[in-house]
Amino acid sequence: MTGLNPPDDLPAMAVILPEVTAQIAAVLHQMGYRDLAETLPCQRFYGRCPCKPGCTFALTAPQGSSGTGMVRLEIDGQTIGQASVSPDRRAITDVELTDPQTLGIPTTWLDQAIASSTKDH
Ligand SMILES: [Zn+2]
Repeated sequence: MTGLNPPDDLPAMAVILPEVTAQIAAVLHQMGYRDLAETLPCQRFYGRCPCKPGCTFALTAPQGSSGTGMVRLEIDGQTIGQASVSPDRRAITDVELTDPQTLGIPTTWLDQAIASSTKDH
């Protein structure tokens, strides 16, 4: 693998993280963020946020495309994660699950996604 991947080479969220994507979309939908819920599965997986080693945010847009808005992901008033949104607030740009186990998602979900997104290259 050399150089930059054009976005079309990156896996869609629904392909690389079907369970996680479905769960986050369900939370967004339930919270009234229907546009964000419907856009997320078609977005690309850009890997781990590189801001610091071991950052727990998954990028769903190129780094630096976040606006100032954040969406707190909640189930029954309990915070299970958070997401940044684009300046037009139409798409999630990165997402972190602080309590993935509440969703039945393993805590290693991001590591697993990165491993499976790079093994074909
Ligand atoms: Zn980060």
